[in-house]
Amino acid sequence: MNPHLLDRVVIVGGGTAGWMAAAALGHMLEGSPTKVTLIESEAIGTVGVGEATIPPIIAFNTMLGIDEDEFVRETNATFKLGIEFVDWFEKGHSYIHPFGDFGRDFDAIPFYQYWLHRNLAGEKDDLFAYSLMVEACRREKFMRPLSDRPQSAYAGINYAFQFDASLYAAFLRRFAEGKDVERVEGRIESVAQDGETGHVTSVTLENGEQVGGDFFIDCSGFRGLLIEQTLETGYEDWRKWLPCDRAIAIPCEKAEYPVPYTRATARDAGWQWRIPLQHRTGNGHVYCSEFMDDETAEQVLRDNLDGAPLADANRLRFVTGHRKQFWNGNVLALGLAAGFMEPLESTSIHLVQTSLARLLTHFPDKRFNPSDIEAFNARTLKEYVRVRDFLVLHYTATKRDDTPFWRHCQTIERPDELTRRIEQFREGGRIFEEPNDIFGTASWLAVMYGQGVEPVATNPLIAKVPMAKIDSAIRQIGSTIDNAASDMPTHREFIEKNCAAKIVI
Ligand code: FAD
Repeated sequence: MNPHLLDRVVIVGGGTAGWMAAAALGHMLEGSPTKVTLIESEAIGTVGVGEATIPPIIAFNTMLGIDEDEFVRETNATFKLGIEFVDWFEKGHSYIHPFGDFGRDFDAIPFYQYWLHRNLAGEKDDLFAYSLMVEACRREKFMRPLSDRPQSAYAGINYAFQFDASLYAAFLRRFAEGKDVERVEGRIESVAQDGETGHVTSVTLENGEQVGGDFFIDCSGFRGLLIEQTLETGYEDWRKWLPCDRAIAIPCEKAEYPVPYTRATARDAGWQWRIPLQHRTGNGHVYCSEFMDDETAEQVLRDNLDGAPLADANRLRFVTGHRKQFWNGNVLALGLAAGFMEPLESTSIHLVQTSLARLLTHFPDKRFNPSDIEAFNARTLKEYVRVRDFLVLHYTATKRDDTPFWRHCQTIERPDELTRRIEQFREGGRIFEEPNDIFGTASWLAVMYGQGVEPVATNPLIAKVPMAKIDSAIRQIGSTIDNAASDMPTHREFIEKNCAAKIVI
């Protein structure tokens, strides 16, 4: 047995990040000598507005052995097939960024390259109609993929969830406590460090209780109690690329049966989210304080709710960016303590999940190998940069210049990698996926095309394929998708049959 095994991992914070960490570590360390303790303070509370996710969350649930229907039922969740972006390219325009591919590749060339070639030749139709996920969103349909029938149009269905974040934390808490994770309630008042290494050795609660450990996971939210307030790790400010710095959230009564997608509507100084759950609708307005004051922002949100508000407005302030080190000494930051890039593509919970996956592969012992920590930090940063670039695409590839905010967005200097991706698409109709990209080819296609980036040329190999052959193949794929979408059950039928929440207001 390794004599350097950790005795105790202490998770500071019981928001989504803290309980995801507790569930994953509780699961992996069950029966081992390493104990897991989570400390949270009900008096401080959680941010609790992270409600929309992206498909890799299914892998997290699978790793934990969570029954998906039970999870949907317990968190009042709905299924999510993509995000509808309204008024982003220009007012009156909308498109859906779907989870999953467009069409079907044939003769070794991606479908989208044939479609762009045909489009350039003047045969104009709707690219988005070639996505089963988009057609399902438009018709409010849902079903799970038929993974055992790879030739079926249903094999490629890709989905995520929209859930009540506080119910999700409670769900994970039950799971983690079932795996022997110990929960300690109380506000941490002070933190002790080793005089030599600077490592955190214990935290002391306001009732005087001291909790010691040899590895600390900081899930304390924006304040970064350990990573920043104690270790002074530093923060990389990304507002020059992502200028929104405030949000107001107000849940409201649902006006209709929930649709299987999130909506992001561009507003004068930011954008508004609408996340339909089984029992209510989550809403929020993300905006830039340089261009809109809080009262106006709240009024904009209230004026655009589907139903009566169900709670007071929850006002939040943030600085987009990330800690200079995600893992510093014996402290690893997760969730809002690690950084925040605004929720436009629902990536925060995903970043918690991927950091946890990386932690499991770089799991430390008491020696805290510096090269493991370095590798963890480098990989995490790469992932943050990829997400950042994808978000910046939405703000900078747009015709909108109708308000000071949108005129400001026109002046944002794109990161080099994003510029390269846009040029490759515009000049040659090509998208190159990088290893471990969160957002693959279909996502880049949907958002670049949806935001008005149009290629001027395409893959020259296609020029030798007769247009009649391309046209016939594309039409056939379109009709397969149309039929497949028609035959799917509605989102409502699917939920009512399999996973209706117990309490639906
Ligand atoms: P928090 O929820 O802030 O939890 C912090 C925890 O630390 C709490 O339990 C608190 O009690 C505890 N704590 C703090 N200080 C102390 C102390 N001194 N002593 C003891 N305990 C302490 N993510 C998505 O994936 N999808 C979305 O749609 C989405 N929307 C968002 C919208 C907005 C406006 C914002 C701000 C975030 C959104 N997020 C979204 C992000 C998501 O909310 C967070 O990533 C997620 O909730 C994780 O938060 P957290 O657990 O890091 O922090």
